[in-house]
Amino acid sequence: MGDCIFCRIARGEIPCRKVYEDDELLAFHDIHPVAPVHFMLIPKLHLASLAEAGDGHAALLGRMLVLAPKLAREQGLENGFRTVINTGKGGGQEVLHFHIHIIGGGSIPPMVRHG
Ligand code: AMP
Ligand code: ZN
Repeated sequence: MGDCIFCRIARGEIPCRKVYEDDELLAFHDIHPVAPVHFMLIPKLHLASLAEAGDGHAALLGRMLVLAPKLAREQGLENGFRTVINTGKGGGQEVLHFHIHIIGGGSIPPMVRHG
């Protein structure tokens, strides 16, 4: 995907503050962090969103979920972290290249308030 911003970051055409990289995956700090630690984990393969994922992506998505806590610990999030996956317009997704936000290090409000 030529002009997808996260594909361009994955190809090294746009700089990022790298957290992790291997053949399939890249993690880098969000340019607009919402907490003291806020980075994103992406596949280098262009997948627009979770809604486009198929059975063939299962191993890749599994790798991402298993890697996330390891990277979070390495970034100092010993007490836990929030993962966020925005999907499509209805999910508020702005960059149409699948990514997992990993957020923590501050006071993280509950996602759902009761009453
Ligand atoms: P989403 O709303 O889930 O699509 O999140 C997209 C995220 O990408 C936002 O939190 C942006 O701050 C972040 N972002 C956009 N461009 C860049 C960039 N060049 N480097 C790092 N993060 C970016
Ligand atoms: Zn892309």
